[in-house]
Amino acid sequence: MPEGDTVFLSAQTLHRFMAGRIVTRFESVYPALTRIAEDQPIVGRTIESVSARGKHLLMAFSGDLILRTHLRMNGSWHIYPAGARWHRPARDMRVLVCTADACGVGFNIPVAEWLTSRDLNRHRQLQALGPDLLGGSFDRDAAVRRIRARAGDPIGEVLLNQRVIAGIGNVFKSEILFLAGIHPFTPAGALAGDDVERIVEVAREQLAANVMTRSQTLSRSTGRRTTRSLDPNAKLWVYSRGRKPCRRCGAAIQSRKSGEDARVTYWCPRCQPRRVPGEALDV
Ligand SMILES: [Zn+2]
Repeated sequence: MPEGDTVFLSAQTLHRFMAGRIVTRFESVYPALTRIAEDQPIVGRTIESVSARGKHLLMAFSGDLILRTHLRMNGSWHIYPAGARWHRPARDMRVLVCTADACGVGFNIPVAEWLTSRDLNRHRQLQALGPDLLGGSFDRDAAVRRIRARAGDPIGEVLLNQRVIAGIGNVFKSEILFLAGIHPFTPAGALAGDDVERIVEVAREQLAANVMTRSQTLSRSTGRRTTRSLDPNAKLWVYSRGRKPCRRCGAAIQSRKSGEDARVTYWCPRCQPRRVPGEALDV
């Protein structure tokens, strides 16, 4: 599942190669997108900017038109030099925006719509987003407050709730809580104030560090890394490591499915002990 750092990097790359250029070709399989393109042609407009807000990618065109896409589980944006062969089948293309030099191709993107800047300011989902971990004006105190307000929810679920804090997906959720030493099923309300502050701090560091290293290597395939290990097989602490020994203490990593879409949470029972009074320890 794309996380905030992936959307941020996609936006950054599309911006670098396409902003300031004129659109020479626009296609989409979505009638709602092509209909407006017939009435108010996209070809000939200038791409003003490409940016990320949480997991939403916004491509702004001259003449006050913004393309909002959301990658959900399987969507991705690729950028290719003009005329280059795509790495994905053409049948997966949902949106195509080309300039004279480059094409941005949205593959399997389930959500795409046109907005004016006025629509954008009133957009329900965008307005509901919590503080953006990769945003320039990240509000740390607001993030801490919003997490604490979900007192009854397990902290793992709270971190995935984009209305609380924007940018964390399932991989980072498990990794952040490991690094902060917090059991993922602890109710947010049972955490001490400095635990919540530490979680927010770690979350911001991890997302920012992954944007940095992944944009330096210019390769998405190197993937996320939270351990600082140079071993390519040891990039993550707990995610997808069920029953394997903890890299820090050797205890067997635990995993559990939870939530609507049965996402799997991973944690180390020794490094992330439960601290809720009256509840049995998970061992
Ligand atoms: Zn451990």
